Amino acid sequence: MKINFQNKKALVRVDFNVPLDKDYKITDDTRIREAVPTIRHILDTGGSVILMSHLGRPLQKLNADGTINREKFTLKHLVPHLRRKLKTRVHFAEDCVGKNAVKKAAALKPGEVLLLENTRFYPEEENGDAEFSKKLAALADVYVNDAFGTAHRAHASTTIVANYFDKKNKCFGFLMEREIENANRVIKSPEKPVTCVVGGAKVSDKIVLLERFLDFADNIIIGGAMAYTFMLAKKGLVGNSLVEPDRVKAAKEFMKKAKAAGVKVLLPKDSVCGDKFAADAAVEVFPSHQIPDGWMGLDIGPSAAKSFARVIRQSKTIIWNGPMGVFEMPAFAEGTKAVAKVVARATGKGAYSMVGGGDSVAAVNQMKLAKKVSFVSTGGGAMLEYLEGRELPGIAAIAG
Ligand code: AMP
Repeated sequence: MKINFQNKKALVRVDFNVPLDKDYKITDDTRIREAVPTIRHILDTGGSVILMSHLGRPLQKLNADGTINREKFTLKHLVPHLRRKLKTRVHFAEDCVGKNAVKKAAALKPGEVLLLENTRFYPEEENGDAEFSKKLAALADVYVNDAFGTAHRAHASTTIVANYFDKKNKCFGFLMEREIENANRVIKSPEKPVTCVVGGAKVSDKIVLLERFLDFADNIIIGGAMAYTFMLAKKGLVGNSLVEPDRVKAAKEFMKKAKAAGVKVLLPKDSVCGDKFAADAAVEVFPSHQIPDGWMGLDIGPSAAKSFARVIRQSKTIIWNGPMGVFEMPAFAEGTKAVAKVVARATGKGAYSMVGGGDSVAAVNQMKLAKKVSFVSTGGGAMLEYLEGRELPGIAAIAG
């Protein structure tokens, strides 16, 4: 963050979309904790902070009478927690624009924080409305975006608001800087050999990513339900496994491109199968291309885990996105756990590893391995789009 914040009011877009229980207590404050270094830096260098964020989707979940459920979606619930974390005065404005917000922003003193109400109470937020963005911008001297997870949306508070600040008066926060740095490290100058591990439910969600990985990967490991569409493309029998028949052609073309590019593609040799999609299913291991009818592949098998581990161990850069199976069910979690362990071990031996995508992040956290990989991205869809090579509006608005 290159801005001098002394006596400046900084409008900071954070991602405080935290889970709350029925009593509006925060059940996981990771997103708040991650924003603290940026906020603290601004306060400690003589500035004041005006925080803005969304929480949930209030306009999609209106009350029966069509009004906004303010009680459920207000950011006010976060104020006591923020006070404790920041150890400073945290004011709250019941509206993110308008008289009350203007007055409270104007009265803000260096070292103090003002939290604005949920930006998504206004349709103008998601529409990227210019007038609304201008009103937000008018509250502060400088703009800091630290919400990487929403950087792929051209919303008012994530993107359009930046148009109303000079280049020297806007920057990324620490969290966003780290996400961008780490993503660039893997896509622009990765140390070889590079192995990309991709899992999850659908080929359709990940095919662009897979094709992009062909530009710089040495090995691409495919697990999760996606692998069975690839098995179909290789004329395998996949029983009742989750497949996308309309993606078989794309899978075939991908294999052809990989061959031409000299990229090794690894599919699971065997699969842990269930006789139904349930935690208490009967379980049996079959070769992934010979799964009998009545059975579905729900995890990579032990041989697959071993051969994937061998390749991962020899890699210098590892990118992992998506679980190897239905890891939410203990009977089908072993493959994902094995990958998490070997990624951590390879990192311990000097490899660089980046884990991104909700479920693989959850797996690494569950196994308490988050500190044993090089970087855990909390960017979700935004990280996926960045790795795919797309320009993210929230980044372009500051760096472009
Ligand atoms: P994604 O969001 O695309 O990364 O997909 C994650 C979801 O894929 C998780 O909820 C997993 O349970 C699911 N998944 C992974 N492997 C399989 C599989 N073999 N069959 C069905 N679902 C799977």
